[in-house]
Amino acid sequence: MIATDATISFVSFYVNGSWERPEGRTSGSVTNPATGTLLAELPYADESDVDNAVRGAHAAFLKWRDVPVVDRVQVLYRFKALLEKHAAELAAILTRENGKTAADAKGEVHRAVQMVEVACGMPSLMMGDALNDVAAGIDCKTIRQPLGVCAGITPFNFPAMVPMWMYPFAIACGNTFVLKPSEKVPLTPTRAIGLLHDAGLPPGVLNLIHGGKGAVDALLHHPLVKAVSFVGSTPVARHVYTTAAAQGKRVQALGGAKNHLIVMPDADMPKTVDAIIGSAFGGAGERCLAGSVLVPVGEAAGPLLDLLVQRTRALAVGDGSQQGVEMGPLVSSDHCQRVEGYIQKGVAEGATPLVDGRERKAAGNGYFLGPTIFDHVTPEMTIGRDEIFGPVLSVMRVNTLEDAIQLVNRSPYGNATAIFTSSGKAAREYSSRCEVGMVGVNVGVAAPMAFFPFAGWKHSFFGDLHAHGKDAVAFYTEQKVIMSRWF
Ligand code: NAD
Repeated sequence: MIATDATISFVSFYVNGSWERPEGRTSGSVTNPATGTLLAELPYADESDVDNAVRGAHAAFLKWRDVPVVDRVQVLYRFKALLEKHAAELAAILTRENGKTAADAKGEVHRAVQMVEVACGMPSLMMGDALNDVAAGIDCKTIRQPLGVCAGITPFNFPAMVPMWMYPFAIACGNTFVLKPSEKVPLTPTRAIGLLHDAGLPPGVLNLIHGGKGAVDALLHHPLVKAVSFVGSTPVARHVYTTAAAQGKRVQALGGAKNHLIVMPDADMPKTVDAIIGSAFGGAGERCLAGSVLVPVGEAAGPLLDLLVQRTRALAVGDGSQQGVEMGPLVSSDHCQRVEGYIQKGVAEGATPLVDGRERKAAGNGYFLGPTIFDHVTPEMTIGRDEIFGPVLSVMRVNTLEDAIQLVNRSPYGNATAIFTSSGKAAREYSSRCEVGMVGVNVGVAAPMAFFPFAGWKHSFFGDLHAHGKDAVAFYTEQKVIMSRWF
């Protein structure tokens, strides 16, 4: 049973520069995970809604591509200023629909703004190369041109930031865009797009629709969609990649993760424990960069686990909007039950619970679960294998760094990892040999900044060009070589 409150709203689509409230669509609900309160009703786009948004985006593309890039980014400069002005409001919406703490939400909005800042540099980033006299009297240059309509499909865990990995770069390059954010957290991206509207974006350049699989599949099959950016779980990333690529679309599909944190005996234990707590339990473990497997090497286990268990027990769990709370609820009731199911499975399969999050389920209607640590987990156990996407840390002890490298490289995922050590040699060896896309050295959450690329390897990523940074410019443009001779 979902309680409602007076602030309940109906979320609209944004198509061709107008807010549309479609009637008679299947709808879903958006809830506050800290209270179980209904926040909004969400219409799910059907095929005709998707077609309408894509056709609008296509019509806008025919004009937007010819707007000089220096003028295109003026809109983004104004957007950045509005995002900064409304940062506290956006962060509050984010906490309300996602559950993350106020500090995490503020940090996420800041990261989103950085994406826009980097996209504002598109006049320099889009530049090609030129060389005169490649043959007698012949000059050669490369230029980058936009693709057309691009689509973005995003997950629930970073509703302010992940859409901004996509559309600021895409539209700065001269494309137009259709965004389908997660149906669990549509309010933050909707508010951000309201600010982009206020910044003066021409109609149709960015369009927003809501929904689930139906809307996604309609985008993947639409002939006018030229490129698809996806971030979400591995099974859906694979589906998006295979479906869209089979139709000749350009695709980048970022998937799930099972990230290992390696701790050498020579690590600075108090600082390492701080980093592990942030990595494993920050954002309630609902991060693709979350450390979910802790790998103490040799003698590291004893001092590390004593301190870690003590700190984990003291972690303040509660409503993320309250001061002092370090970990909020999980995003939904279903997801909370799923994570709890993994804890049950861990116990049933013989892992040793050092901290059991089920003991800290808060009273009330929120989707709370405390942080959990299991010792003596093996890669064959369900909790050692699956992405749990919650505050559950599995400890897999190994004897040597070589064992740690073998363990990490056997994982089907390769999103992120970290090594904690005071040995430059061990750090170098690990960083160079692990088959993982993003590596931290004494950094628990190795999140690349907006001007670097972001993505994992193996089953954590399907495609070629990663998110944001220079890869985004390459992804959202087609390169052309022009050779000229004048008689
Ligand atoms: P999800 O895969 O359930 O949903 C992601 C998006 O896909 C949503 O917009 C959803 O509506 C849509 N979708 C869901 N099922 C679909 C289907 N069967 N067909 C077509 N579309 C579908 O992911 P989530 O639960 O929202 O987010 C958590 C996942 O995202 C985790 O696996 C996490 O690791 C991953 N993630 C990865 C990164 C990264 O950079 N690799 C970043 C953030 C999140």
